[in-house]
Amino acid sequence: MTPLSRKKLFLFDIDGTLAVGDTLYPGSRELLSYIDSIGGKAYFITNNSTRSAQDYILKFRSSFRLETTADQFITSGYMTLRFLLSNYRSGKIFVLGTKSFVKELRKNGLHITEMAEPDIDCVVVGYDSELTYDKLSTVCEVLFTQDVPFYGTNPDLRCPIDFGFIPDCGSICNMITATTDKTPTYLGKPNREIVEVCLEASGFTLEETLVVGDRLYTDIACGINGGADTCVVYTGEATPEEVLTTPFRPTYAFDTIQGLLDACLGKR
Ligand SMILES: [Mg+2]
Repeated sequence: MTPLSRKKLFLFDIDGTLAVGDTLYPGSRELLSYIDSIGGKAYFITNNSTRSAQDYILKFRSSFRLETTADQFITSGYMTLRFLLSNYRSGKIFVLGTKSFVKELRKNGLHITEMAEPDIDCVVVGYDSELTYDKLSTVCEVLFTQDVPFYGTNPDLRCPIDFGFIPDCGSICNMITATTDKTPTYLGKPNREIVEVCLEASGFTLEETLVVGDRLYTDIACGINGGADTCVVYTGEATPEEVLTTPFRPTYAFDTIQGLLDACLGKR
């Protein structure tokens, strides 16, 4: 555990941590300025694979009035692409996902199929807002008839929306697991590689790193898996009661992001 005043590399979750929808929480802007002022670096890590880094730059500018660069956004879609390019560059990959997700993978030269063809090398399931029963049947056919690795973009069970929640990738994968008895390896948070990618790109050390989020089984687990200190804020999903019993115990906990900023500045 390294004191907060020595942290330089911050890996932030966005929704429920820095902002809710289009509204930045009090203290988020000031915390990002503080990181700039100490020569640090902020990354925004999101399991939302439906948006690209470019989409996020525009959202940060128009909704939050914050200027960012593409390298600051690490999405589960990016982590999945990176993983597939280094492990299945010449393989045949079965994908269950949106049309735009499939298109993005193909654009990068990967051999993608959405049919139960022979000789498939791995199965990838993403958040799919275009999910159909046919797609579910096909992925089950592949997993029952071919003994291949099964990957999911992100384990999040539910995705926030104005009226509450809708099923996310983790829930879709759970349906497939319940049917086939095969469990996926997830490539977005909490995969430790995310921490490694940020360390490598920024040049900071693990001791200088803090992973900040509101969800224990993705954000905090990601920091723990990567060996970094973690900080939970209670402006999203996690509650102080859950933190007492979770296997994903954060190093630090604050009610708000303002609390974290105050602690970094030595005000508390
Ligand atoms: Mg969140």
